[in-house]
Amino acid sequence: MAVPLRQQVDVGAYVAGQHFKAFLKGQKTARYPLVLMLEPLFRCNLACAGCGKIDYPDAILNQRLSVKDALAAVDECGAPVVSIAGGEPLLHKDCAAIARGIVERKKYVYLCTNALLMEKKMDQYMEFAGNPYFTWSVHLDGSKDEHDKSVCQQGVYVKAVEAIKKAKLAGFRCNINCTLFQGTNPERVAQFFDDVMEMGVDGMTVSPGYAYERAPDQEHFLNRRATKELFRGIFRLGEKSQGQAKQKWRFSQSGLYMDFLAGNQEYHCTPWGNPTRNVFGWQRPCYLVGEGYAKTFKELMEDTGWDQYGTGNYEKCADCMVHSGYEATAVMDAVKNPLKALAVSLRGPKTEGEMAPEISLANQRPAEFVFKAHVEHELARIETDAKAKKAAMGAREAAE
Ligand code: SF4
Repeated sequence: MAVPLRQQVDVGAYVAGQHFKAFLKGQKTARYPLVLMLEPLFRCNLACAGCGKIDYPDAILNQRLSVKDALAAVDECGAPVVSIAGGEPLLHKDCAAIARGIVERKKYVYLCTNALLMEKKMDQYMEFAGNPYFTWSVHLDGSKDEHDKSVCQQGVYVKAVEAIKKAKLAGFRCNINCTLFQGTNPERVAQFFDDVMEMGVDGMTVSPGYAYERAPDQEHFLNRRATKELFRGIFRLGEKSQGQAKQKWRFSQSGLYMDFLAGNQEYHCTPWGNPTRNVFGWQRPCYLVGEGYAKTFKELMEDTGWDQYGTGNYEKCADCMVHSGYEATAVMDAVKNPLKALAVSLRGPKTEGEMAPEISLANQRPAEFVFKAHVEHELARIETDAKAKKAAMGAREAAE
């Protein structure tokens, strides 16, 4: 099962509880986190062309969230699912301890990795084999040629597949996460999904890439129309090869989100659905765009100008259809329209006919470029902290 039954029940109960609480408070919109995106470091052992996370000076790449800070973020946020991302989380020496603390809190952990270190470090994670609260989420953007090109290094696909097989043999839950870019061939993706299912993975997370302003390759991101046509093409092939309307590929995403990718739902994003905590703090407004940082989760939720973001509101959001922004929208839609959600999950995404109307970009505000200011601010903070630490050490030595 792509999402274990226990997880479906727990997350369903959490979502229902959040809506009930909002109802009791007389709130029109229930605003709650669904998946915490925890980035305990930005350092990575790859340098993918589509990545917007690793272009920082060394002083920032050397920063780590401590186990204490990471678990405090989990408690503060309260989301039932935690995705440990990065950077490459397996480079963090305490990543297993962070995962353990989250599992002990009965939250569902997805440990996102490029798998280069997965076999080597698997022993540290054996306590989670067979545990429904822990899932490896291995980055694979396609079959061998596509994936190695996407991560700009030969041999990564083979290593990742070996790690997936080893994890499955050891009894772990194991998913893949796949990002698609412009120029993707639907036939190749359909074949790749078939191959992944044959590997015995539990589920697949798939999303179009987001055009990070710092990504080295700015040429190959999909616009919304191209995304919808690509996904319709892929889903059509799924129907054909499996001889029935409902897809047999096991996606770990909701049916309504997949239907949105195929152009059938007119959704606005829910950026607070997947709040992000990284070495800077709580990122505003979402996992993809870093326009500011709040010190606490409460401050993020209460003091962010949410209306300034989203497709139609902001230039940087124009082409976004990424799951971290829209899965929560799909879940909320399912709560409000359970029969529609059931129908979509039974028939699969619609691949023919008119698409849902697109959001107008006529009134979007222009992009702001704030990366440099954040880097300078963070470097100044690191320097101040280092000086304070040195002064405290000096004072301690003098007193001894
Ligand atoms: S559309 Fe929403 S999720 Fe996507 S980048 Fe903008 S704020 Fe983030």
